[in-house]
Amino acid sequence: MKSYNLLLIKIIQNIKPSVVSFVCISVLILMFPVFNVNAQTIDSKHFRLEKLAEGVYAAIHINGGYAICNAGIINLGEKTLIFDPFITPEAALDLRSAAETLFDNPITFVVNSHFHNDHIRGSQVFVPGTSIISTTTTREYISKNEPETIAAEKEYAPKRLAQLKAELHAEKDSVQRIKLIGWVGYFGALATSNSELKTQVPDITFEDKLILYGEERTAELIEFRKGHTESDLILYLPKEKIVFMGDLLFIDHHPWIGDGYPENLITTLNNIQLMDAGTFIPGHGNVGSKNDIVTMIDYIETIKLTARNLLNDGKSTKDINELQIPETYEDWFLSNFYKMNVKFMYESLKEKD
Ligand SMILES: [Zn+2]
Repeated sequence: MKSYNLLLIKIIQNIKPSVVSFVCISVLILMFPVFNVNAQTIDSKHFRLEKLAEGVYAAIHINGGYAICNAGIINLGEKTLIFDPFITPEAALDLRSAAETLFDNPITFVVNSHFHNDHIRGSQVFVPGTSIISTTTTREYISKNEPETIAAEKEYAPKRLAQLKAELHAEKDSVQRIKLIGWVGYFGALATSNSELKTQVPDITFEDKLILYGEERTAELIEFRKGHTESDLILYLPKEKIVFMGDLLFIDHHPWIGDGYPENLITTLNNIQLMDAGTFIPGHGNVGSKNDIVTMIDYIETIKLTARNLLNDGKSTKDINELQIPETYEDWFLSNFYKMNVKFMYESLKEKD
């Protein structure tokens, strides 16, 4: 309740800060017989909240916003956990305020599912006061890669943003425009946040499995090596049968396999399919089910078959440029990953032959 009252006070102050008196606030609070804050009361241009169970929310990225990946807000009881705090401090601040509005708890843990920029950069707005958790390997990658990645983005992100804005301006096709808006959002996020970014290295790490016990629920963090990256983790809520997948799952988006191990990723996805769970939150896309894991496995198999056929026919990587995206995946976001994925698979199969 305290947070809800604070939110209401904030709203009132925004309306007319100078004339709001304590009496006025109290009357208004009494007039609002709403005791449960629902997801619709917390707006952000970067994400929309989706309630998955009592105390469990997914924050789903809005195309063109500065969240880029999906996040989770989980009430463990006396403490709140945030999963994957987005790509920018700006979007993470909205996430933090949503978490504080929903639950009257301190935000005790922020979890980074893997080292990619879109899943980790919001961590810095929670520090000090919150522990950042990742696998040991992911911590090493963040520590090693982030400083040079941030420095490189300072150079290329504004240039790429300008090109994409020009492309968007010229594009007439509505489907292409939606896809371009997504990329303008991504490079806009990189360009606008760059000067305030610092490398926020996790301060709690684990290997294999870490269980966080709360009064309300238990959250299991489970590591899978050599999947989407060298090390990825999922967050499993056994009571609610919900899994936050990080980038081990993309839904209606081409996954990025270029930093990973596609063959082993298929094994991992098959293992996750056997878990006692029904709701799966991807790193990118809408909340899904086990069927979406099957679709992701099919996608990787398709990429593999395409690459294998190219090799068998004696084709070179240049021929990949001529490929058309298969109809099943035509409307998916991040479509420029398709050829890059085939190329990555082609090179890795070639190396093995
Ligand atoms: Zn990723």
